[in-house]
Formats: sequence, C-alpha cells, structure tokens
Amino acid sequence: MTKKIFRSLLLVAFTVFLCSLTLIMGVLYDYFSRIQQTQLRMQTQLAAQGVETGGADYFDGLDAQGFRITWIGRDGGVLYDSDADSVRMANHLEREEVREALMSGFGQSHRLSATLTERMLYAAQRLSDGTVLRLAIAQSSVLTMLLGMGQGVASVIVIALALSVVLARRLSGRIVKPLNELDLDRPLENGGYEEIAPLLRRLDSQQRQLQAQNNQLLLEMAEKTQAEQARREFTANVSHELKTPLHVISGYAELLQNGMVKPEDAAPFAGKIYDGAQQMGKLLEDIMRLSHLDEGARDMQFEDTDLYELARAAAAELAPAAEKAGVTLTVEGRAAPLRAIPVLARSIVFDLCENGVKYNRPGGTVEVKVEPGPDTVRLTVTDDGPGIPLDQQEHIFERFYRGDKSRGKDIPGTGLGLSIVKHAAQVHGAAIDLKSAPGQGAAFTVTFPKNGK
Ligand code: ADP
Repeated sequence: MTKKIFRSLLLVAFTVFLCSLTLIMGVLYDYFSRIQQTQLRMQTQLAAQGVETGGADYFDGLDAQGFRITWIGRDGGVLYDSDADSVRMANHLEREEVREALMSGFGQSHRLSATLTERMLYAAQRLSDGTVLRLAIAQSSVLTMLLGMGQGVASVIVIALALSVVLARRLSGRIVKPLNELDLDRPLENGGYEEIAPLLRRLDSQQRQLQAQNNQLLLEMAEKTQAEQARREFTANVSHELKTPLHVISGYAELLQNGMVKPEDAAPFAGKIYDGAQQMGKLLEDIMRLSHLDEGARDMQFEDTDLYELARAAAAELAPAAEKAGVTLTVEGRAAPLRAIPVLARSIVFDLCENGVKYNRPGGTVEVKVEPGPDTVRLTVTDDGPGIPLDQQEHIFERFYRGDKSRGKDIPGTGLGLSIVKHAAQVHGAAIDLKSAPGQGAAFTVTFPKNGK
C-alpha cells in the first residue's frame, strides 16, 4: 500500500511539475516574442527614417547586427538586401508583411524557417516614395530554446524528481502510519482516519460476537465438565451407599444360613436384614425420584392442589413414626389451594416433616404451618430438635450429604431427601429458607407461587 501511494504521489507531483514547466516555458516564450516584435518594430521605424533621409546611401557600410534588412521597390523587386544578392531575390510583393505595409503603412509577420529550428520575425514599413523597408530577425523556436537550455532544464528536472521522491516517500509514510499503528485488539480506541471508523466499528462488533461465542463455549464446556464430574460422584456415592446395607444383609443372611444363630435370635437377625433391605429400597426410590427430576419431570403436570391437604396427609402417614420417636407432629392452617405438581409438592412436605421427626428427641415437637397468602402459599416446618450448625447449612441440600451426627447416631437416611426438596421447589419456582442454630431446632420455609411457575 505504501508503495502504491508513493508511486501515485510521485506520478502526480512529477506530472504537475512537467505540465507547469511546459506552461511556464510557453508563457515565457510568448512574452519574449512580443518584446522582440516591439523592438523589431522600433528598429524598422528607425531604419525607415534613415532611408527616407539618406536614400540608398543609408545602406553603405551598414552593419545590420544580426538583422536582415531588405529594401523593396514599388514593383516588388529587391533594391537592397543585407543578406543575399538582391538581384536573385524573388518578387516580394506577395510577402504578407510587405502587402500589409503597402496597404496600411506598416506590416508585421512571422514564418518558420525551412529547418523548423528558427522562426523569422518580419516588420515592414512603407516609405514616402512607395518603396518598402523590411527588417527581419531570427528567433529561436521553442524546440531550439529547449535544446539551448537543455542542461539547465535537465538539472531542474532531476532536482524536481529527487524532491518529489523524497516528499512522496515521506508523505506516503505519513499517510500509512496511522493504519500501521491501528490497535486491532481495541478497535474503538483508535483515532486516525474517520473513513475507516465504520470498518473499526464492524471489527469491534465482530470481536465482541466472537468473544461472546467463546465465553458461551467456555461456559458450556465448564457445565459439561461439571455435569460429568457430578455424574461420576453420583455413581460413586450410590455404590458406596448401597454397599453398607448390602454388607449387613449378606452378613446376617450368612450367619442364618450357616445355622450359627440361636433360634431365639433369628427374629432380630431377620429384622436387621429387613431394615437393610428397606434402606436399599429407600435409596433406590430416592435415586429414581432424583433422576426423574433431573430429566425435567416433563410428564408431570401442574394441577389444582391444596397444600394444607397434602400436609395433613403427610402428617397422617408419619404419625406412627412420630409416635414411635415420641415426637408430637401437628398441622396448623387452612385450605391453601395452589397450582402445583402434586407428587412433588407431597415430596417437599413429607421429606421436611420426616426430617423434623427423624432429627428430634423424645418429647420433641414438629409443627407444620400452611399459610395461604394473596399470591403465595407458605409452608413452614419447625422442629425443636438439635438444629443444624451454620457450617453445615450450606451443604445439607447437596446430594448424599449427611450430617456427621446423623451418620454417627445411625439415623437411617440416604442424604438425598433435601436435595429432592430443593429440586422440587425449583420446579415450582418456590423459594426455600432455613433458620436454625445448634440446640434451637430448625425451621424450613418454602414459599410457593400460587399460580404455579
Ligand atoms: P438424610 O435425612 O437422608 O440424611 P437429607 O438430605 O434429608 O438426608 O438431610 C441431610 C442432612 O441434613 C441430614 O443428614 C441431617 O444432618 C441434616 N438435617 C436435615 N433436616 C434436619 C433437621 N430438621 N434437624 C437437624 N438436622 C437436619
């Protein structure tokens, strides 16, 4: 590009220079011609006066000094010529300047010489006796003039060319510099030519687009990796959680099989096997509920449901377990209609109540409160059990997370209950809030939008 601009500038500069030179030469040539013509006219008038007074004697010993002087008789014959033998001269009456002089007293003309290297200027004046005196002087033609000035003109051309080269190089460099200095990483921060602003704007928007696509790609990749990781962890957790009850089952079954158990111990052993099987069943059930939710639970429909009814049903279902644990489970509230997926809403209520009973002490209470509002229905499950330490509160909704105490105390569970609650609440667009402190029980509040998500 620099080269192209350089060549164009050089061409323009040099063309302009040559044209100017030609024009100036032309003007000068014309100017000097006119001066020469005026001078010739004056010389002719002077010489005419000389001939008028001196007649033919005027020419005796005349030094024409570069002029050619011709005296033409009335018949056109040459009476005197400073250059050639006047006898051999052709009749001059037909010459333009002579004809003009005869008619008007004075005539002037010019003609190119046969070789074209010279131009002859003529001036003729009529004398009082009807003869004509003519002066001629040679003038260089433009070509001769140019040839004469050859060396000077050539050096001017060389200097102009050199100057054009230097200037064109500098200018082309200066024109291209802002383009070379463009910061393409930050297109909009460039000053310089406003002509390329649209280009830079386009570049900027494309870069942004690319960046956005890149970010999106990175995000997708991160999500994919995360999902992959979660899947791996999930599989590992499932196998781990299944192993414990399976060991229990196979251990007691083996003892029974080998007849190593006294008949009176058989029933408690069978009970252990039953509990292990129950735990495995619960785990499988929770995994299936979760994977159903993971797949989007698309087959589940929002229906007109009543959360109060669901809470009462859950309490009734849990009554035997509560009684066994010595926990009082109460439901408070009134009819609370809402649009919800019944099976998921039931899961939320049931799992929270079950935890309230499970993680409690004999003589403890679990209060379920259902409060219908103008746009929402609020479910609160409060217990006065051991509470949840603050550092565990952010983890309890994670899959397979179980508090240390829950594991230590051998409270049966899968660690999936609250993650199902969280997922099911998300499907409903419901918010979960937890207030708890060690030794002060726990209160879970789920706020459902009344008209479904
Ligand atoms: P699981 O009950 O099967 O262990 P969850 O996901 O329901 O699994 O609960 C995760 C953990 O949260 C429990 O192991 C327990 O430590 C803690 N937790 C849940 N609910 C309560 C509660 N009401 N009081 C005290 N701790 C609770």
